[in-house]
Amino acid sequence: MHELYLIQSMINQISSNAEERGIYRVNRIHLINGQLSGGNTEALRFAFTLFSDTPLFQYAVLEVEEPELIGRCNSCDQTFKIEGCRFICSYCSKGNIELINGQELYIDYYEGD
Ligand SMILES: [Zn+2]
Repeated sequence: MHELYLIQSMINQISSNAEERGIYRVNRIHLINGQLSGGNTEALRFAFTLFSDTPLFQYAVLEVEEPELIGRCNSCDQTFKIEGCRFICSYCSKGNIELINGQELYIDYYEGD
């Protein structure tokens, strides 16, 4: 499962950052998971339960935010929300679209003591 690897590397990243900052307990992790990132939110949450059984993470809450898909039309230069995987410009109906977001998966921030 792809998400196991994603969560594992997130845990590693936060662990080393927490050590640098002298944080001994992570309270909250805020993850941004674009709709086309390839990471399934439920699977991410499940993977997190497998890796969070350590003193640093045992009280941590994982929040996953799924931002809306935004595209930019290369024909008329408008930006718009993409709904239901319809990759067509809502202004000029052309399909020459560039994705502005949706493929990202990253730690927005985390909090701890
Ligand atoms: Zn357009």
